[in-house]
Amino acid sequence: MSLYDQYPVSIYNSLKKEKEVFKPIHEGRVGMYVCGPTVYSDVHLGNVRTFVSFDVMFRYLKYLGYKVRYVRNITDVGHLVGDADEGEDKIAKKARLEELEPMEVVQKYTNGFHDVMDMFNAIPPSIEPTATGHIVEQIEFIKQIIDNGYAYEKDGSVYFDVRKYSQDHKYGELSGRNIEDMLSNTRELSGQDQKNDPLDFALWKNAESGHLMRWPSPWGIGFPGWHLECSVMSTKYLGEKFDIHGGGMDLKFPHHEAEIAQNKGCTHSGGANYWVHGNMLTVNGRKMAKSEGNGFTPEQLLTGDHKLLERGYSPMTVRFFMLMSHYASTLDFSNEALQAAEKGYKRLMASVNLIEKLGQPGGSVDKEKSAELTSVIDQALKDLSDDFNTAKAVASLFDLSTKINTFYQQPGELAKIDPEAFEYAIKHFKGIIFDVLGLRNEGEIAQDGKTLDGVMQVLIELRKQAKFSKNYALSDKIRDDLKEAGVQLKDEKGGEMSYTID
Ligand SMILES: [Zn+2]
Repeated sequence: MSLYDQYPVSIYNSLKKEKEVFKPIHEGRVGMYVCGPTVYSDVHLGNVRTFVSFDVMFRYLKYLGYKVRYVRNITDVGHLVGDADEGEDKIAKKARLEELEPMEVVQKYTNGFHDVMDMFNAIPPSIEPTATGHIVEQIEFIKQIIDNGYAYEKDGSVYFDVRKYSQDHKYGELSGRNIEDMLSNTRELSGQDQKNDPLDFALWKNAESGHLMRWPSPWGIGFPGWHLECSVMSTKYLGEKFDIHGGGMDLKFPHHEAEIAQNKGCTHSGGANYWVHGNMLTVNGRKMAKSEGNGFTPEQLLTGDHKLLERGYSPMTVRFFMLMSHYASTLDFSNEALQAAEKGYKRLMASVNLIEKLGQPGGSVDKEKSAELTSVIDQALKDLSDDFNTAKAVASLFDLSTKINTFYQQPGELAKIDPEAFEYAIKHFKGIIFDVLGLRNEGEIAQDGKTLDGVMQVLIELRKQAKFSKNYALSDKIRDDLKEAGVQLKDEKGGEMSYTID
């Protein structure tokens, strides 16, 4: 019996607005699509939270024994300033301002995004497709929607016909908005608009002369609309119908609503069965936003170089902090909360380190105590299967951590535990911490008897200097600091002059 049969997963489905038992389309396999970043600027911590939440889902489904195909796209064209159909393309704008080729902008921020994901120990997706790499597929998709009667061409652009679609399907089923309300909240069409109706959205935009990103199409030179790529790439890699679609709460409308309409507009029944939305990050109770001056970059968080931060925090402290709440709840960022997370994280790592020093279980086995031990792990797995409730699972891990401390201090207690139960509990304790929650033991780089703090300070300094690059030459001063902190200096070739954070 596989773990996923033993601990069946239930998911809060935003589409149905209720928690449902998860049933994949193909037994034992899961297809999951998550909206990735638009790569025109550095990711901020709110984005990181979203991707860490989906990383945990990916990891947990794999842990349960599912074969998971996880697709997370890179948006590198079509996302316009203001998120609507007017305005400049975000990437083209950045390219113009920085006098770069748009693909240089894309490459730069894609690299930065990957470095940040790596720093927070998020596993790369199985496929990471780009919008510009799928122009041909997007054009074919649009043609099909036009053939089905749900889109129209106007002056070289193609728009999705929301009213026509609404005659056959329910537009607004995800966001819960109804079409009349939407219309009354929408401004009147301006004279420059090409759309028939303000609710319609662009599938293809005519590129004006001088537009930096442009491709030929049956409707003339242009570029795809922002919403389209996700419908097209999820269909291409996961099939017309697939299991899970995720993204940040802020994408529900219009982006995800438009995706559903496009999928159904193309294939009638297409799209995801389960829609999952991660909630946002607030700072001292206020929404994190650049305009509020409270949007940290991951780098600032590490260095503590921000007016709202008392000091820097390690990547795993921050990751653990994010996992101490449920992904669908808002998470408030404060120094107190981070310091509590740091304590919790260190406590778990201390227990992991202690396991090696425990004596042997077994001897005068107490069945009840042995069952109690395994029930703590069962509870953690049940909590994770209950809509990926990491917050509750962490509480069980703390319970186990207390037991491990007792076993260390009172070997007689360990002797009461059945060796099989002990092995089971430890296997999953470590499995949940490292494989599911995706924590790294930052202390591992320190040698026996050394604490983490000194090392962390040096690493933070290194990160600061290296701007997230993974490999760098060390100055003598830093080498000495690291040696003093007990870090072994080795590079892949065994040389001593550079140090790899991983
Ligand atoms: Zn998307």
